[in-house]
Amino acid sequence: MNILTGTPLLPTYARFPVTFVDGEGSWLIADDGQRYLDLVAGIAVVSLGHCHPAPLEAAKEQLERLWHVSNLYSTEPMENLARRLSDRFGGAHAFFCNSGTESIEAAIKWARKSTGKTELVALHGSFHGRTTGALAITGQHAKQAPFMPLLPGVRFATPETLAEAVGPETAAIFLEPIQGEGGVHPLSAETLEEARALADEFGAMLVFDEVQTGVGRTGSFFAWERHGVKPDAVTLAKGLANGLPIGALLVSDSAPTGFVPGDHASTFGGNPVACAAACAVLDTIDDELLAHVESISEKFAAEIPNVRGAGLLLAVELGHPAGPVAHAALDQNLLVGTAGETALRLTPALTLSHDEAELAIERLRDVLEGHT
Ligand SMILES: *Cc1c(COP(=O)(O)O)cnc(C)c1O
Repeated sequence: MNILTGTPLLPTYARFPVTFVDGEGSWLIADDGQRYLDLVAGIAVVSLGHCHPAPLEAAKEQLERLWHVSNLYSTEPMENLARRLSDRFGGAHAFFCNSGTESIEAAIKWARKSTGKTELVALHGSFHGRTTGALAITGQHAKQAPFMPLLPGVRFATPETLAEAVGPETAAIFLEPIQGEGGVHPLSAETLEEARALADEFGAMLVFDEVQTGVGRTGSFFAWERHGVKPDAVTLAKGLANGLPIGALLVSDSAPTGFVPGDHASTFGGNPVACAAACAVLDTIDDELLAHVESISEKFAAEIPNVRGAGLLLAVELGHPAGPVAHAALDQNLLVGTAGETALRLTPALTLSHDEAELAIERLRDVLEGHT
């Protein structure tokens, strides 16, 4: 294990003391040759598993042909990805960027431009990203406090007080169908329905942040499909290109287009290599894989106590600090994340096999027994 002391990196992360050099499916190999079973998948990013052949081949082929032309011109992978995402959404136009937080920035600007209003409503405990706009709608005091003042005009609500926060000045309501980073807390169908009704009543845009829940993670392509509450726009990123940087804002064909040329831009957005990989990801996420996600999810829920979430966005509530448990899991060659202070977060590859899930459950139980 490489302790990484002396590496010239700004100290924004408390990294685990391990350096990975190879990956295959749900396994990561460290520089000392040890193999780790990966229930993190790069934080819900490597959704088809490390080095999955479909995006690997698509990205390699594109790397050999063309890397970048900018958005002054069009490229086939970007057009193909926009069409595939529009089909999955049921009619939408895409803006491509490079990360989740950028997709939120695009959504904030789009909602303000298309409504002519400025107020934004988000939930306490939410997570929408770390750039200053996205951070302004992230309902977590500790993440915001050192960087105040942020974008004005943001109102935070709970599911119970949503109706008090939304009004005629609201440009957009931002919701994660399942709060991921904040602790894996699913919103109820009633909350999503109420948000839809409030947005319609006050002419606000309903934006679902599906950066973490999207692209098959919860067992449906979009998490909103599970409740049938359709947003005006959705943001995607993490799992979209299986690890290549990409983000997307999808605006429903039934919502205002908002933007005109010059309103928003991204030099790298729509990168052909990332878009080619993303097309291959979308082609791989079929009904069979989504059914597999559900069956692996049920296995975890049946075998591990205090599991919540949906599909393969799961938390194990511990009732005590989760950090030391994640470190103990590392010692058992098992990678798990944390969500909030007291929960483990499990976001394995959607392709995790039944045998791998059983091995993971066995190791997880050992770790949990040592930390009760
Ligand atoms: C991770 C995440 C983001 C931020 O994405 P980055 O790619 O890290 O900028 C935004 N929203 C949600 C729901 C996320 O889970």
